[in-house]
Amino acid sequence: MSKTVYNPFESAQQQFDKVAESLGLDSGTRELLRQPMQEIHFTIPVKMDDGSTKVFKAYRIRHNDARGPAKGGIRFHPHETADTVRALSMWMTWKCAVVDIPLGGGKGGIVFDPHNLSANEQERLCRGYVRRLATQLGPNQDVPAPDVMSNGQHMLWMLDEYETISNGRYPSMITGKPVGMGGSLGRKEATGYGVVYVLKNLLKEMNIPIESTTASMQGFGNVGEYAARMYSELGGKIVAISCWNQVDAQSYTFRKLDGCDVEQLASIKDAFGGIDKEKAAALGYEVLPGEEWIKQDVDILIPAALENQITPAVFPNISKQVKVLCEAANGPTTPDCDPLIRERGIIVLPDFLCNAGGVTCSYFEQVQCSMNYFWDIDEVFEKLEYCMTKAFKAVYKLAVENDLYMRDAAYTIAIKRVAEAVKQRGWA
Ligand code: GLU
Repeated sequence: MSKTVYNPFESAQQQFDKVAESLGLDSGTRELLRQPMQEIHFTIPVKMDDGSTKVFKAYRIRHNDARGPAKGGIRFHPHETADTVRALSMWMTWKCAVVDIPLGGGKGGIVFDPHNLSANEQERLCRGYVRRLATQLGPNQDVPAPDVMSNGQHMLWMLDEYETISNGRYPSMITGKPVGMGGSLGRKEATGYGVVYVLKNLLKEMNIPIESTTASMQGFGNVGEYAARMYSELGGKIVAISCWNQVDAQSYTFRKLDGCDVEQLASIKDAFGGIDKEKAAALGYEVLPGEEWIKQDVDILIPAALENQITPAVFPNISKQVKVLCEAANGPTTPDCDPLIRERGIIVLPDFLCNAGGVTCSYFEQVQCSMNYFWDIDEVFEKLEYCMTKAFKAVYKLAVENDLYMRDAAYTIAIKRVAEAVKQRGWA
């Protein structure tokens, strides 16, 4: 049987088209919103430590900025494509709209694997990215942030390059910076914690105590780790976590049926979320094939890695016990799988709502940078929980009242807000 190949941009367009149709959106607005407004594809030459020059392919794509400056991370991944960045930029527009922050959607990517570059080479690559985009980025234009395999240090190199070129200090041109260098307390935890704030609210609606639930997770990067930490802190039990193993170039699932110790696993992971297989085995974890994470008898599945993971091909492997699909990653579920999920009665916490905590805290970071006054951590988490809870409640209410699939309800709210901004600006 040939394997279906999924294109994330086509998936993002299908999701949009379905809801745009049901909203009766006019054709001009539809045409505008089903594709990015601006794309920059470019190359970055980098002097490597051995004296050779390597050329890296890179992107910055702005989907829509009707509601505010474009906002979204820069992914470092060897398989990054223009279509992936297009999809991710589109999802950023809906993400900012569903939590109602005054930002648009953008995304960037550099095609490379940071595991294979020295810190100095990574710094030159980050600076090269900004040098090429300097006139396009800025607090009022387009504001990057970390994403898959990029981190606060990368953001700070980018900021420094931008400020050198611009001859001034513009801390709100980029977010996810280290604390003390214009970063917000809580930004590191925000995406993962936000996932659990939303999950907690859903379980409350379902009358299920979180302490009685079990979960299995894919991915143990920044998002996965902090979602797992908060979920365990609230009493939930994570029985399995799968992640990529760079040495073996394959993924493994680490399982402990009486509950993973998240703190302990975090202490034996590398900078990109890979858990040390030998150390985990010594600590009593079963080391299973990567795809086992989805087959566990748990109440909640948390995909927290990449797109296209929940497909009709793997759907039959999902245990009948699963009640909630908590999409911490961007685009983990393919559109052809949505009807199967709905039919089985699994409730989806859709990606751009579920993982919006990161960009919400990025917005807080910008606000704090603009005031040059930084909040303490309780204030950040309190505001974050408030925003996530409010957004969840609106989506859930709409879904229940209109018998909508949660993804469609979230899209309905987000598309309406963006379409309204487009209309008010006189763009369509
Ligand atoms: N990369 C994160 C996301 O996909 C955060 C974006 C941001 O903070 O701008 O939501």
